[in-house]
Amino acid sequence: MKVKIALAGNPNSGKTTLFNALTGSNQFVGNWPGVTVEKKEGKIKGYTAKGDEAILVDLPGIYSLSPYTLEEVVSRNFLLGEKPDAIINIIDGTNLERNLYLTTQLTELGIPVIIAVNMMDLVKKNGEELNIDRLAKDTGCKVVEISALKGDGIDQLAQRAVAIAKSGMKTQPAHSFEGCVEHAIAHIEEAINGKVDQSMERWYAVKLFERDGKVRENLKLEQSLLDHIEQDIVSCEKEMDDDAESIITGERYNYIGSIIDDCYKKRVKKQMSVSDKIDRIVTNRFLALPIFAVVMFVVYYVSVTTVGAILTDWTNDTLFGEWIIPAAQGALETIGCADWLTGLLVDGIISGVGAVLGFVPQMLVLFIFLAFLEGCGYMARIAFIMDRIFRKFGLSGKSFIPMLIGTGCGVPGVMASRTIENDRDRKMTIMTTTFIPCGAKLPIIALIAGALFDGASWVAPSAYFVGIAAIICSGIILKKTKMFAGDPAPFVMELPAYHLPTVGNVLRSMWERGWSFIKKAGTIILLSTIFVWFAQSFGFEGGSFGMVEDMNNSILAAIGSAIAWIFTPLGWGEWKAAVAAITGLVAKENVVGTFGILYGFGEVAEDGAEIWGSLAGSMTAVAAYSFLVFNLLCAPCFAAMGAIKREMNNAKWFWFAIGYQTVLAYIVALCVYQIGTLLTAGTFGIGTAVAFALVIGFLYLLFRPYKESQNLTVPKSIAGKVRA
Ligand code: GDP
Ligand code: MG
Repeated sequence: MKVKIALAGNPNSGKTTLFNALTGSNQFVGNWPGVTVEKKEGKIKGYTAKGDEAILVDLPGIYSLSPYTLEEVVSRNFLLGEKPDAIINIIDGTNLERNLYLTTQLTELGIPVIIAVNMMDLVKKNGEELNIDRLAKDTGCKVVEISALKGDGIDQLAQRAVAIAKSGMKTQPAHSFEGCVEHAIAHIEEAINGKVDQSMERWYAVKLFERDGKVRENLKLEQSLLDHIEQDIVSCEKEMDDDAESIITGERYNYIGSIIDDCYKKRVKKQMSVSDKIDRIVTNRFLALPIFAVVMFVVYYVSVTTVGAILTDWTNDTLFGEWIIPAAQGALETIGCADWLTGLLVDGIISGVGAVLGFVPQMLVLFIFLAFLEGCGYMARIAFIMDRIFRKFGLSGKSFIPMLIGTGCGVPGVMASRTIENDRDRKMTIMTTTFIPCGAKLPIIALIAGALFDGASWVAPSAYFVGIAAIICSGIILKKTKMFAGDPAPFVMELPAYHLPTVGNVLRSMWERGWSFIKKAGTIILLSTIFVWFAQSFGFEGGSFGMVEDMNNSILAAIGSAIAWIFTPLGWGEWKAAVAAITGLVAKENVVGTFGILYGFGEVAEDGAEIWGSLAGSMTAVAAYSFLVFNLLCAPCFAAMGAIKREMNNAKWFWFAIGYQTVLAYIVALCVYQIGTLLTAGTFGIGTAVAFALVIGFLYLLFRPYKESQNLTVPKSIAGKVRA
């Protein structure tokens, strides 16, 4: 028999840990259809052999089944639409009050619920007592105590869950609301009888009582019926002197209070745990930031500057540069392969994909650190510390990590956004992370600073400033649009106790992230390198089409000339600069290299010192700064675009992100050039007028009042309760 079991619980309740423990390696990670929230499914170990199969579906972490966040909507659509055979509701035993709020809603769905009380190791260590028989009686569910981390009780949980799923019995909610609420709900149930699955009638009725917009929409009730229901709700609201939604919330918490009184015994004298002691220092108002800076410096130093750089250099220079490429070249020559094919295979595919794969070791080192920081509980503290600052411009504290990592390389930066569970916050982070100058943009900065600004020391820091300003302004502006409106989901970061993560979990997390990147290198990046190689190597020369000697005759040069006019208003409408910017899309390292080739130097140093003279002769300082700004902010390299595509998992959002970045880059570069030229040379033209208009428009978008979208905010009653 095949059964489907859903795993539901609050964020940080240990869902991922339990899911991995129950399914082992039998899991598939994807996204929910149509949305970018992570979807995980797997077969429960031990139920696959005997013709039996138990599929476990990991729902997004949620606090409630209300329709306020995408995660909640995804979860409840799954539960209502797919009707799994059972729900494992994992709750954090150290925080029953918050976790049981979801439980009270799950039990109304008419789907068998089994409660897994997690973190029992901590509960016991804290000397607290939980009477699970009473908890079972009070909630009407089977209850199993587990420690997902230690693996205690999870076999029993799996057995019981599968048994319940097979038995087909229903969970009856063990709780009833206040008289008048029940009265109204009974009326509503009557009214929707036959319109919904009978076992789910109660859940729908409660939601209609709460005036849940999405449920109303889905059921398409006639107006007369809605009016009738409304009367019941209004009279109940009068009697209880509160609004319907708050009535239900309040009632649920009363019920939870009674459960906790009944089955939970706190230890009498509360003494500070080790975790609390560490937190006193680590989240201390004055020490938090310096400590954090040190931690991140170490992470960054090891993974990007030392160990990571050594590994990446080795991969690029030795593995690919000295072994694979010469070997492939030799082998192809021996078998007498055609020149163009050797070129495609060696200069195109192996070099191109190799350049991208070269990042892999560095990324894996970084991902180990991230997995460790996440697993031990420190990441939650960082988000907590940064949240106060980031919230001001519409980003969540969790956005900070991706940006920090983005200073090394945008690819792992974008991928680190995975740790952000809230969908809107994550999208915003994905869109803005690559504004931070990554390592590969440093040569461009060095080139411009050296060639046109006499190596002035302000140029490099100003590039970071431009990146950070772009992030902050984007946060503020996007927040005021419909797409991103609404509070970042209420910040309910409960700080889990510190502990050493298991090696298995750290490695698994590293591998999951790393592998998805490697897969991408084999697809989108492979295709784009083939294209650029082709465009760079072929063209019309001496009247016939073929491989070109002179890059000026290549298709790439033709494309560059054709589009160079686009960049004229930015001050660098010359085809060489346009081509350099385009090849920068393959990898930002290419920009300086391309200039080198185009100005007739085969090889140039990292900072392109050989071509400073030629470059200085071909554009003004203001134009060069505009070129720099454009390349910093525009669409990142293909590898990072691949990461954006993968994390967005949605073509529309991907193009929106790329389009937004490029348009923003264009506008800022235009303003820099036009207004800069006005200030330095005193020229005023149409372009200058346009630039001023754009600045005014930008300021308007930045400072216009913020309209809070009604239906996307969390009701105060819940927000207040769940805020730790
Ligand atoms: P999710 O957000 O629900 O997926 O939660 P995770 O599985 O990521 O777990 C959150 C944190 O709690 C992690 O640091 C886990 O290692 C930790 N954790 C999970 N289960 C247990 C447990 O049974 N005992 C203890 N002490 N920690 C746990
Ligand atoms: Mg998780």
